[in-house]
Amino acid sequence: MIDLRSDTVTRPTAEMRRAMAEAVVGDDVYGEDPTINLLEERAAALMGKEAALLVPTGTMGNTIGIKVHTEHGQEVICESRAHILNYELSMMAWFTGCLARAVVAETGILSWSSIYEQVRPLGPHAAPTGLIEVENTHNMAGGTVYPLDTLREICEEAHKLGLPVHMDGARVFNAAAALGVPVSTVVAPVDTVMFCLSKGLGAPVGSMLAGPKRLIDKGRLLRKRLGGGMRQAGILAAAGLIGLEKMAGRLGEDHENCQYLARELAAIPGVKVERAPETNILFFDVNGTGLSGPEFSARLKERGVLINSAYGVGRLRLLTHFDVDRAACARAVEAVRGVAASGN
Ligand SMILES: *Cc1c(COP(=O)(O)O)cnc(C)c1O
Repeated sequence: MIDLRSDTVTRPTAEMRRAMAEAVVGDDVYGEDPTINLLEERAAALMGKEAALLVPTGTMGNTIGIKVHTEHGQEVICESRAHILNYELSMMAWFTGCLARAVVAETGILSWSSIYEQVRPLGPHAAPTGLIEVENTHNMAGGTVYPLDTLREICEEAHKLGLPVHMDGARVFNAAAALGVPVSTVVAPVDTVMFCLSKGLGAPVGSMLAGPKRLIDKGRLLRKRLGGGMRQAGILAAAGLIGLEKMAGRLGEDHENCQYLARELAAIPGVKVERAPETNILFFDVNGTGLSGPEFSARLKERGVLINSAYGVGRLRLLTHFDVDRAACARAVEAVRGVAASGN
């Protein structure tokens, strides 16, 4: 099977599995797991932040990230298709007691002016804004990347109003690769950032939350409350360290494969590519083939290719990653061509 449903499907490399088997571990709830401590130090250094925290999932990282900045009854400004709003089971409302104030941006990339229109001061009617959230890369907009200037302006203006900025950087290493800058440059202006070890970086489990020590210390207690105190999880951290060392540097290859797929799919009759990919995510429309999205997806599966269709009428989303090389991408193109031709 060629699995293009997500970059979460990547399996740990042989080197990761060896490091996991040999990892030195301790009880992390006591702060005594050397491998986790090392991963947290490395992650903080790479992000250029004071401290970092290993969490089991990106959802928990975002939940804690939002909670450390906000109080119940505040609003969080985010893009309308943000992961925190649409794909985290309303955890923001459930746990942090905040309401999302969604801003529509076609490319998923917010501007300061669009945010500023939605900033609310405390008054007799409105709940005050507590936080600005940016998603980089933006998943549902197709892996789009914040230009450095745009992000800098958002953060500078937000900070002038006393508002913190949290980045859902699940794929922030893809953003850094696309921009050709160190990841610390990308996240420099934001207060906190969450990123996933378990996507393009290939680790089996884990995400990191990085930011000022004062907030990460607070986050450590929230992690325990949420059931994320993981004891000898150095076994997982060992894979995460290799993800940071060996996998972050090769994400450009995934981006090239995604561009290749975009070019090839765009040439297939009935298939429409939505936007030239900046990173590793591609949305395409199959309405012109006479097949529905789910039918297209089901027929691809019969040909050994997995691509999800649950993104609107006739829309499919694919992601490139370490486990799908160029030859596999070429086979996926042939499968799409075959299915498209079977439509009418
Ligand atoms: C994957 C992802 C997350 C985290 O997802 P988990 O499955 O909870 O690890 C958060 N934000 C975005 C944009 C994502 O793509």
